[in-house]
Amino acid sequence: MKTIIEPFRIKVVEPLRMTTREERERILRDAYFNVFNIPARDVLIDLLTDSGTGAMSSLQWSAIMRGDESYAGAESFFRFRDRVQEITGFDHILPTHQGRAAERILFELVGGPGKVVPNNAHFDTTRANIEHSGAEAVDLGIPEAADPTNRHPFKGNMDVGALERLIERVGVEAIPLCMVTVTNNSAGGQPVSLENLRAVRAVCDRHGIPMFLDACRFAENAFFIKQREPGQGQREIRDIVRDMFDLADGATISAKKDGLVNIGGILLIRDKALAQRADALLILTEGFVTYGGLAGRDLEALAQGLDEVIHEDYLAYRIRSTAYLGEKLLAIGFPIVEPPGGHAIYIDAGKLLPHIPPAQFPGQALVCALYREAGIRSVEIGSVMFGGGDHAPALELVRLAIPRRVYTQSHVDYLVEAAEEVYRQRTEFPGLRMTYEPPYLRHFTAKFEELPRS
Ligand SMILES: *Cc1c(COP(=O)(O)O)cnc(C)c1O
Repeated sequence: MKTIIEPFRIKVVEPLRMTTREERERILRDAYFNVFNIPARDVLIDLLTDSGTGAMSSLQWSAIMRGDESYAGAESFFRFRDRVQEITGFDHILPTHQGRAAERILFELVGGPGKVVPNNAHFDTTRANIEHSGAEAVDLGIPEAADPTNRHPFKGNMDVGALERLIERVGVEAIPLCMVTVTNNSAGGQPVSLENLRAVRAVCDRHGIPMFLDACRFAENAFFIKQREPGQGQREIRDIVRDMFDLADGATISAKKDGLVNIGGILLIRDKALAQRADALLILTEGFVTYGGLAGRDLEALAQGLDEVIHEDYLAYRIRSTAYLGEKLLAIGFPIVEPPGGHAIYIDAGKLLPHIPPAQFPGQALVCALYREAGIRSVEIGSVMFGGGDHAPALELVRLAIPRRVYTQSHVDYLVEAAEEVYRQRTEFPGLRMTYEPPYLRHFTAKFEELPRS
């Protein structure tokens, strides 16, 4: 069979609400041209993020009913712990309310002024937690990652030579741990190879530096390894996942991605003393060690989700449906980050809209055009998100993130038709001016107005 179908049928449906172009025009204006301000009911296809937006299975919903809400030692915790142990091999397993809570605990323990944390590319909350502790976060992606059209099979890899040079420059004592993000969210959802993980591990071993994974999308990364890495094609996903975790001394995980749940996070730690200190901080802000800010039912859904996410038919569908959207957009003429990553397609809006300078936010102009045309919500990852002051991002991207198991192929085909129309009108989109800029994380609450069309 050529067609990879959705490996599920639909038992519960959530109606979508259609809007007219006139309504969307008004909604966009009322939102000050910032799609974070648009109520979800006014969005037809919501590709703002793949985080916490997935659909749960019938088995996950039924597991929710047996959630044990005991404060300490709940059955649900043990089911969650056993599943995480079976998949990752870790003994010290701390539930948290989401990924950033695991990051906050970890970097309160190992961060601090004078410390430097390398990563292939820090996700924004990871960077923020490291910097909040007083430490410095350094991105060491391979140079290929900076070129959107380079089709390197493992564009998420860390530059091992750059890691060696960083250690040389700042000294081993300054580096409490080295992180590797799988898949590399900030570099377009691109995977990291087992070979690269082993090479990073070897450098860390030589210097006695612990290696941690930011493992939010561990299953998608394992599927890419199976597809693309020499010698891995015949192996079970479960075994590849285990190889990835076996290389690590710890991991932070947002369960809102490959946990297939709407809320949750996990902190994994190999070292017993460090794990004990993490337990103490967990109790301080998240809750007792057997629930960590989650309800028993959340832990049940997560235990079941972690089993479903490593099924190969699920992953084949997942990775194929993202690639399908990427191929269709490329065929229309959209410049995208190639090859398509696991969880999202990134359009190079700077290249698509050369008439709009970065100071007039070409990415935001494309986000507005997609909403206006068809009620599609995407997100700018460029000068709005990372600009301001003396920062200038290298690329003006727009991300279409794909929620897990939520939309069908006909939703994607509809999106592609809208994108064709947007492509045809691309020379007419106006730039924007920021009329309100909040002090932090400005993309969430900034306000804009459209500039007169030239
Ligand atoms: C989402 C994400 C996080 C943070 O997780 P939250 O659950 O949103 O707190 C950290 N790292 C990566 C790579 C992510 O994608």
